Amino acid sequence: MSTYARALDGAVAERLGTVVHGDLIQPGEHGYDEARRVYNAMHDKRPAAVVRAADAGDVIATVNFARDQDMALAVRGGSHSVTGYGTCDDGVVLDLSRMRGIRVDPTTRTAWAEGGCTWADFNRATHAFGLATTGGVVSSTGIGGLTTGGGMGHLARRCGLACDNLVSADVVVADGSFLTCTEKQNADLFWALRGGGGNFGVVTSFAYRLHAVADILGGPTFYPLDGDVLRRYRELIAESDERLGALLVVGLGPPLPFLPERWHGRPLCGVLACWTGPETQDDEIRARLAGLGPIVGQYLGRMPYPVINTLFDELLPAGLFHYWKGTFSKGMPDGAIDAYVEYGAATPSIQSSTVVFPIDGACHRVAPEATAFAYRDADFSTALSPTLTTREECVAHMDWVRRFAAALRPHSMEGAYVNFMDEDDQGRVRSNYRQNYDRLTTIKRQYDPSNLFHLNHNIAP
Ligand code: FAD
Repeated sequence: MSTYARALDGAVAERLGTVVHGDLIQPGEHGYDEARRVYNAMHDKRPAAVVRAADAGDVIATVNFARDQDMALAVRGGSHSVTGYGTCDDGVVLDLSRMRGIRVDPTTRTAWAEGGCTWADFNRATHAFGLATTGGVVSSTGIGGLTTGGGMGHLARRCGLACDNLVSADVVVADGSFLTCTEKQNADLFWALRGGGGNFGVVTSFAYRLHAVADILGGPTFYPLDGDVLRRYRELIAESDERLGALLVVGLGPPLPFLPERWHGRPLCGVLACWTGPETQDDEIRARLAGLGPIVGQYLGRMPYPVINTLFDELLPAGLFHYWKGTFSKGMPDGAIDAYVEYGAATPSIQSSTVVFPIDGACHRVAPEATAFAYRDADFSTALSPTLTTREECVAHMDWVRRFAAALRPHSMEGAYVNFMDEDDQGRVRSNYRQNYDRLTTIKRQYDPSNLFHLNHNIAP
């Protein structure tokens, strides 16, 4: 982004400071290093200014400022983008993390959440009403990036993707206009926001449809890493009730108290269950999990729904070094299972993981052209990532994940989930949107002809 490389001069900074009510943090000021940091430590950038917006007015002012000054604009919600799109060198970071208000209407089962909420904020607020919607499985992930990219989680088989539960959004677009969009109002923008990522503007508030989900049967069950366990998992997903969320995890045994020490650091696979059906069927679910293979450790019990989304939090704090690849697949071909076993056994660290999200059920009942998220025929979405404590180690293991992704490719669909892609996957954007790419380009031209919102898996206008 060298064409944008410049710092704010005093008068320009003062102009921005007078129109923004939230915080304006510049290089050299107290708190700058904290303000410029994002979740993935691979991205160590130095913006000219970080605006922590207090409200939609600040978002409008910052968008107008960045556009008029011809500066790069990075929009940040939860800051979990593995590509580091929530920051940039020399430009303006619009950080929404102060905008975390949530209002729940239990009568219409709707929640309005400001653009900077995390899933921890959201789940806590809706759980008080015995309600929930599909969100991320690590609670510090932002609703903003996750929902606009699609949004997979424990409830996806039953309730669809996060974006399928979006009923309206308030958006600030590149010319500074504030637009409310729904299926009926600014419908093309609403269509694009449901899968098209941050390409179209800044969502200051999302409204979601909620579902009756309160306490669940959930938690991980670990097995030795073995192709037969994975084949039985594949059958479990094909046959089971959609109220069973069951992520597959392949990696090294974490040092958890319920896992015997001899399995710590050894290759394992695990099923992270989230059963939202009646408690009277809990024993059936336990029996299905026991039938997958020899259990080496299990932490399965009744818990409030928000808790299942915090079980990975401690293992994955901000500040680790990540590099990701993603795939979509129809079913789970034997060749993919062989790759999971071979490359899973070589997982470079306890934090590194292969996570397979089942996205059948309700996700399949949305037509492929109904939202920008294109892969309604995929059964699984896989995220592969070496996650390490130093940059050098992460770089050293990029080859592992690239070879792993290449081994999965013959058994995968052409595109993959934009939220599981890294910087060097920009060339795959067209195939990630498949049949929806041309319409996205048309809408991008209408709302952001100069590509102000380019720090994302970019749909060029
Ligand atoms: P940010 O870095 O803040 O933003 C990411 C992108 O979204 C940027 O391009 C940004 O401009 C845009 N954006 C953010 N907020 C807004 C907004 N309000 N309006 C417009 N654009 C916005 N994905 C899943 O689907 N399911 C999971 O369970 C899941 N788990 C994850 C766990 C971890 C530990 C990590 C690192 C990622 C996970 N992801 C998951 C991927 C995740 O969906 C993406 O990283 C997503 O971009 C994160 O959103 P964010 O708001 O935290 O990110």
